[in-house]
Amino acid sequence: MKWTERVRASLFLKIILLFLAAHITIGAVGFMVHRYFGLPFHRPSINKNMEHYSRYLAAEIGAPPDTLKARSLCNAYHIRLRTTSDSMQWVSDAALPGFSQITEGPAPASGTYKDYFYVLLKQNNTRFLFLFNVDTHRELSALKWRLIIMVLVMMLILTIIYFSIRLMLRPIKTMNKAVAAISAGDLDHQISVKRRDELGDLMQSFNAMAERLKEMISSRNQLLLDVSHELRSPLTRVKVALEFLDDSDSKQAIQADINEMEQMIGELLESERLNSAYGGLHIQPTNLSALIRNIVSAQKDTPPGIRFHSGQEELWIDADPERLHTALNNVVDNALKYSHQSAQPVEITLESADNQIRIRIKDFGPGIPETELASVFEPFYRVDKSRSKETGGYGLGLSIVKKIIQQHQGHIEINSTLNKGTTFTIILPTKHT
Ligand code: ADP
Repeated sequence: MKWTERVRASLFLKIILLFLAAHITIGAVGFMVHRYFGLPFHRPSINKNMEHYSRYLAAEIGAPPDTLKARSLCNAYHIRLRTTSDSMQWVSDAALPGFSQITEGPAPASGTYKDYFYVLLKQNNTRFLFLFNVDTHRELSALKWRLIIMVLVMMLILTIIYFSIRLMLRPIKTMNKAVAAISAGDLDHQISVKRRDELGDLMQSFNAMAERLKEMISSRNQLLLDVSHELRSPLTRVKVALEFLDDSDSKQAIQADINEMEQMIGELLESERLNSAYGGLHIQPTNLSALIRNIVSAQKDTPPGIRFHSGQEELWIDADPERLHTALNNVVDNALKYSHQSAQPVEITLESADNQIRIRIKDFGPGIPETELASVFEPFYRVDKSRSKETGGYGLGLSIVKKIIQQHQGHIEINSTLNKGTTFTIILPTKHT
C-alpha cells in the first residue's frame, strides 16, 4: 500500500502527522522570529540607541579628540574606535579597517560590518567610527544549539505522543476484532472494558448490543424450533388421514407438499441440533470410500448421473458417519439438482495426502455468480430467490454442510464459473483431535 493510502486509511497516522505538522510549524515560526527579530542589531530601535550611545561617547572624547580619554573609554567598554580630524588620526586597534572599507556613506550612519556593529558620526571636522563587537558567530552557534535541543525535545515529545495515541486508540482495534468475531457468528464474544472514557462507553454499549443480538437470535431460533416440533404431529396426522383417501392427482400433489414440509422441518431441526450442546459428534473409525459409494449408488439413477474416482478401496478416518453422510449427501444432491439433465455427470474424487483428505464434488451445472459465493453457506440463502418446484430447498442444506465439516475440524471451499459448473472441495483431517 502506498503511504498516502496508508495515511488515508488510518486515524492513528493522521493524528500523528497532525502533531508532526504542528510541531514543525511552531518550530519554524519560532526559528524565524528568533532569526529575524531576535538578534539585537537587526532591530531599528536598537540601531537608534546605539547611535545615541555613540554620540555620548563622541561628546566625551571631544573634537578634536582627546586620545587619552578615547583609549580609557575603549578599554573600559570594549569598544573599537577610529577617529580623524584635520590635525590628527587615532585608532584603538592597528588592525581596524579604514573608513572607506566599512562605509562610503555620509555620517551619521550605522549598520553591520563583519562581526561588528558600526556607528559613523561627525562632530565639527572630526569623524568617529565606533565598532561594537557583535559576535554573530557565537550568536549563530548558540542558535544552532538551541535548534538542535529544540528538535531533540520535539522528537521526544513526538515519541511520547505516538505511544500515548497508540494506547488511546487501542480500543478501536479491539472493537474491530470484536465486530469481525461477531460477524463470523461468534455471538458470545465480549470485550473486556477497562477504560472510563468515551471509547470505554462505546465498548460497553457494544457489549450490550452483542448480548441483545444474541438474545434476539436465540429467541428467534427457539421459536423456529418450537414451531417445527409442533408442526410434526399435525403433519403426521394429515399424512395418515391422506392414506384413507382414494388415489387421485390432488392426493399425490398433497403428498408431495407434505413430504417437502417434512424435509424442511427435518433440516431445521438438524440445523438447530448442530448448534445446540446436544449436537456433539459421535466420532468413530469411518470408511469414507464406502460412505461415498453408498451415496453414489443411492443417487445413481438421478440425471445427469455420478462418477466416483478413488485411489483407495478403503479410506478410514475418524468421523461421525451419520453427520458426514448428511453433509456429503447435501452437496451431491445440490450438484445433481442444479445440473441440467443432459449435462456431463457429476464427478466425485477422493484423495488423501499429508494427513488430509480432499473430497471434490464437481458438476457441470449453471454455476454460482461470484458475488453470491460467500453467501451460499448462510442459512436460508438461495441464489435463485424464487423457489421452483424442481429444485425445492430452503437454503438450509449448505449451512448444515458447513457446520458439520467445521465440527470435524475441516473446511469447505467453493469454485464456480457461470454456465460451466461448480466444484465443492471438502478438506478433512484424517485424525480427529
Ligand atoms: P437449497 O436448499 O436451496 O439447495 P443450499 O443451502 O443447499 O439450499 O444451497 C444454497 C444455494 O446455493 C442454492 O439455492 C443454489 O442457488 C446454490 N447452489 C448450491 N449448490 C449449487 C450447485 N452445485 N450449482 C449451482 N448452484 C448451487
